[in-house]
Amino acid sequence: MRILVTGGAGFIGSQFVRATLSGALLSPPDVQVTVLDKLTYSGNLANLAPVADHPGLTFVPGDITDAYLVDSVMPGHDAVVHFAAESHVDRSLIGARDFVTSNVLGTQALLDGARRHRVGRFVHVSTDEVYGSIERGSWTEDQPLAPNSPYAASKAGSDLLALAQHRSHGMDVVVTRCSNNYGRYHFPEKMIPLFITRLMEGGRVPLYGDGGNVRDWLHVSDHCTAIDLVLHRGRAGEVYHIGGGVEMTNKELTGLLLDACGAGWDRVDYVADRKGHDLRYSLDVTKIRDELGHRPAVSFEDGLADTVRWYHDNRDWWQPLLERAELRR
Ligand code: NAD
Repeated sequence: MRILVTGGAGFIGSQFVRATLSGALLSPPDVQVTVLDKLTYSGNLANLAPVADHPGLTFVPGDITDAYLVDSVMPGHDAVVHFAAESHVDRSLIGARDFVTSNVLGTQALLDGARRHRVGRFVHVSTDEVYGSIERGSWTEDQPLAPNSPYAASKAGSDLLALAQHRSHGMDVVVTRCSNNYGRYHFPEKMIPLFITRLMEGGRVPLYGDGGNVRDWLHVSDHCTAIDLVLHRGRAGEVYHIGGGVEMTNKELTGLLLDACGAGWDRVDYVADRKGHDLRYSLDVTKIRDELGHRPAVSFEDGLADTVRWYHDNRDWWQPLLERAELRR
C-alpha cells in the first residue's frame, strides 16, 4: 500500500506518519508513505526525525497548489491523507490570502490530481470550526456549515469541494472533522504549547477575553487512530466527527497548565478577545464510535502530563521555533 500524506511534517500529519510507519495503525507492515510538504513556518523535518531512516518514507518538498508537482507525485498511490493547510486562526485574522490559497486551491489541486491518477481513497482532514459556534448541545455530521474565522471559512470551502468531488465524479472521498488536538511536536503558537513554552521560559501567558470560551480536547494520537480507521474502513462520501469528550473553558485549561508548570495566576495576562471568537465547539461523535468503533485511548490527564514532560525534555526541538511562532501584527 502507498499513501500520499500532505502536510506530513506538521503537528498532526507527522504523528500520523510516525504511527503508520511504526506499525501502530492498520496499514500493512510494508506500507510506503510519501510526505508532500512545503515546510512553511509550522512544517518541520525534525518532526519526522524518529522515522527519517525508515525505508518506507519518501519526503517530497513542495506546494500542494503546484498542479504540475502534484501530477508528478500522485501516480502509484493508493490513498491520499490530506493534512496540509494553514491552520492558525490568529494568523488568518492578520491575513487570509495564504489560507485561501493553500486550503482551498491546494485541496482542489490534490482532488484533481487524485482523480486524474485514479487514486483509490482521499481522506480530507478538517475541523469542528467549520460549523461556527454552539452554546448548548452538539453538532451532528449533517449540520450546515457556518464558519466565522477566515481559517474556518477556508476549511469549510475545502470540505465542500472534497464532498463535491464525490458527488460529481464518484470519487472515493471521506471527510473528517475533529476538535482541538494537543500533544508532542505541537508548534508553539497554539494555546497548549504556547503556554507551556512561555511558562518554561519564565514568561507570561495571554488569556483571551474572560477565558470563558469552551473547547473540546483530543490527544493527537487518538485523532490519528480515528483518521486511520476512516482511511481503511470509512464509507465513501461520508463525514465523520472525531472528538475527545473533554470540554473545558480556556480559563480552566490555563489553571491546569499553570499547575503542571509550577506557576501561579500572576503569570497570566488577560488580553483583548480574539475577533469573532467562537464561544464553544462541540461535536457529536456517535457515528465514528458506533460505525468504526473509535474511542479515545488517552485520558486528558495522562496526555497533558506526557505533553508537559515532553516539552520539558525537548527544548532543543522548540527553542529554535520561538521566533517563528511570534505573530507579526
Ligand atoms: P500544522 O500547521 O502543524 O501543519 C500543517 C502542515 O502543512 C505543515 O507541515 C506545513 O508545512 C504544511 N503546509 C501548509 N501549506 C502547505 C502547502 N501549500 N503545500 C504543502 N504543505 C503545506 O497544522 P496541524 O495542526 O498539524 O493541522 C493539520 C490539519 O488538521 C489541518 O488541515 C487542520 O485544519 C486540521 N485540524 C487541526 C486541528 C488542531 O487542533 N491542530 C484540529 C482539527 C483539524
